Amino acid sequence: MSGIVKKESFKTERLVIIGLGLIGGSLACALQKARAEGRVSITTIVGCNRSLEGLKSAQKNGLIDEFNTNAAEAVKDADIVILGVPVLSIRPTLELIRDHLKPGAIVSDVGSVKQPVVDDMRELLSDANVHCVPAHPIAGSEQSGVTAAQVDLFNNRKVILAPINGSSPESIEQIDLMWRATGAELFQMDVSEHDRVLAATSHLPHLLAFSLVDTLANQDQGWDVFKYAAGGFRDFSRIAASDPQMWHDIFLSNRDAVVEALDLFSSDLAKLRQNLLDEDGESMIEVFKRAKAARDHFAQQFQKTGSDVE
Ligand code: NAD
Repeated sequence: MSGIVKKESFKTERLVIIGLGLIGGSLACALQKARAEGRVSITTIVGCNRSLEGLKSAQKNGLIDEFNTNAAEAVKDADIVILGVPVLSIRPTLELIRDHLKPGAIVSDVGSVKQPVVDDMRELLSDANVHCVPAHPIAGSEQSGVTAAQVDLFNNRKVILAPINGSSPESIEQIDLMWRATGAELFQMDVSEHDRVLAATSHLPHLLAFSLVDTLANQDQGWDVFKYAAGGFRDFSRIAASDPQMWHDIFLSNRDAVVEALDLFSSDLAKLRQNLLDEDGESMIEVFKRAKAARDHFAQQFQKTGSDVE
């Protein structure tokens, strides 16, 4: 991962966000704030969802200047198109818009998995005379939809860029400057490394939280276990309230890396289970001590940047 340092401010005429939900809406909101403060120059921010739901109130609340429910129409004069849709909706959206993009336009996304997006953009947009700069903001929440949008969601958070070969340095700089205007810190990262790291640090914890909460809920249909839940369970289970469809898309799109992380974890968990059966407290304490030291070390970083939830 390498840091990028840029100084100029973000300028564009027409920026279209397809998939105006938590992430797309928060981006629109942060850019509107930056525009109001004179830190960026954007003529028009357009929101696009398949239904009108959310778009009208997003316009009324000043997140977007215009909206359109037709993605092909929305992108016609766009200088920058950001795909804020769930990961498995990115390919069909690219198919919808590719013949309608303006030559020289920049196409980016916010998907949590990068390899399939990079592959799809390469395959579907190579003849479209556009620049592709896939991106992933490492910030979010268990809430979804534009009503959950937060103006400071990306402030002091990391955004990873995975530009596709052939994308101009200017297009990379544009997406870099756009995210920088939201308060984010920018990095570039190898795509397979990105998917492997995120599988371990984000995707696996979500899988475990979904699974644990489901196991406990099935075991106890009266849900008394939740009634007496202590803080530890509340903290750990919070991410199980995340959007099921979004996570379905993420797990299936990053299957191999998630399975690799899951196998490693399962093997360590099996060792811990055996330690417990053997009443081998010494080995258990060794694991807990190592885990505590690692968590304490990272807690200092979390304090600096806020907790990166995704
Ligand atoms: P969301 O459900 O809040 O928003 C998705 C939006 O896309 C919704 O408005 C939905 O109506 C719209 N949409 C879905 N399919 C569409 C289609 N085919 N055409 C047009 N609009 C469509 O989800 P979100 O949390 O904002 O996540 C969006 C993207 O951001 C996903 O790719 C996700 O992987 C990524 N992401 C999410 C988080 C997070 O924590 N939520 C963090 C980083 C990245």
